[in-house]
Amino acid sequence: MIIGVDIDDTITYTTKTIKKYLKQEYPDYDEYKLLPRKQYIRFLKKYMKQMRSEYELKEGVKEAWDYFRENHYKIIFITARNNKYYRKSNQDTLEYLQQNGLFYDKIYFNEPKKGRRAHKNHVDIFIDDKESILDNMASYKVKCICMGKSSKYPSFDNWYQIIEYLKEENNGR
Ligand SMILES: [Mg+2]
Repeated sequence: MIIGVDIDDTITYTTKTIKKYLKQEYPDYDEYKLLPRKQYIRFLKKYMKQMRSEYELKEGVKEAWDYFRENHYKIIFITARNNKYYRKSNQDTLEYLQQNGLFYDKIYFNEPKKGRRAHKNHVDIFIDDKESILDNMASYKVKCICMGKSSKYPSFDNWYQIIEYLKEENNGR
């Protein structure tokens, strides 16, 4: 079984941390993507490194990786993360995954769409928090799981539920 996984807001509480920093720096904004371009770049350049180091893992991530290891799942991370606003972003990401014991077989950075990449790597199931990404994924006939809310795909709030879902999928084969 090959599982494809997104990073931000799928395994980490990314938005939660960013909002905390945004509130300090630009209290009038609720969403950093709405910042005017100049401020947006300044914000990311200034805080990216620090914010990244603070991201907490979502509930059940460690247990999910234990399950993956025990059952010999292959893990492929496909993330939009890149070095644009912080030149050591990718390197820090690798260190973060290692520090948290999140093994993987492959990792792809700078992949905003992801579907084609997952398809080429024979990913069986892809997990992402964004429905638009999953739509792209589904167009390549890759099975999808949504971390969060979706009316189209099986959706879960935490990784304990995802493990249960994957166990059932496994038994059904
Ligand atoms: Mg994400």
